[in-house]
Amino acid sequence: MTECITSLEYPGGIVAIDSGMVRPQMAACYLLETDSALAVVETGNNRSVDRILTVIAQRGRRVEEVSHVIVTHVHLDHAGGAGRLMQRLPNATLVVHPRGARHMLDPSRLEASARAVYGDEEYEAQHGALVPVPEERLLVMEDGGSLQVGGRTLEFKDTPGHARHHFCVWDEFSRGWFSGDTFGISYRELDTSSGPFIFPTTTPIQFDPPALLESMERLMERAPRNMYLTHFGRVQDLPRLAADMRAGVAKFVEWGERFATSERRRERIEAAMMSWLVERARAHGVTYSDASLHEIFGGDVVLNTQGIEFWLDNGR
Ligand SMILES: [Zn+2]
Repeated sequence: MTECITSLEYPGGIVAIDSGMVRPQMAACYLLETDSALAVVETGNNRSVDRILTVIAQRGRRVEEVSHVIVTHVHLDHAGGAGRLMQRLPNATLVVHPRGARHMLDPSRLEASARAVYGDEEYEAQHGALVPVPEERLLVMEDGGSLQVGGRTLEFKDTPGHARHHFCVWDEFSRGWFSGDTFGISYRELDTSSGPFIFPTTTPIQFDPPALLESMERLMERAPRNMYLTHFGRVQDLPRLAADMRAGVAKFVEWGERFATSERRRERIEAAMMSWLVERARAHGVTYSDASLHEIFGGDVVLNTQGIEFWLDNGR
């Protein structure tokens, strides 16, 4: 039986492919199509590779046409499948941030730290062994750099804040950013007649609120029409969403500072974040039960709180 793969097609030759991680429409990989070449932006993890290849074939294209695989940063939901995907794409170059390159060449540290977070059993179930990418197939992209996919120009901007090894990719043709995790998370299941619902995302290490705010401004300066989020899909209405993102980062900082010395710091930040998210979702017109909302937001609340705690302990 072939697995059902959700893919969403947007104008301008851009397709979001559900990477299959955790739950439907949680994490995307993108296929960028031009007449003469293809690019993949974000690889998902090892289990996403076959999905990407299936969608390429379904669209009547060939793996030989893929000229570039681009990862916004090296977290496993974005780049965990890079090595294995590159083995299947004979003509592709992997494009990565200068700070992420060594982890693509030798993913052993990335794998070890993920195993420490998930435990071996869950790590194996979710990810599997990471595959190194040969050096001659790697292109390290500096801030301000650009490349051509077919006739199409992509530009790269260093965007620290979520991670220091993060860049965003500007597609002039559609006036859109492949924003990785810099412009937060917006799940399509929370769309209402008011549009998309968005909130910031952090991780256990490298969360840097001022840097994240500045990176968002760098994206908005371009007056983009589209943001292609990894979690999940395209959003528009960007000035409103940027305001929501700024407010969200301000809340993360506020809770961090308020509960910094609390004995039950983690619990209190998590509780404040969950009730803020649920309240905002209600105001946005989301009608799921509280239990469903807790399920939708649960994983992100845990990760975001870890990010805030890391910032309290190391970054402030
Ligand atoms: Zn992510």
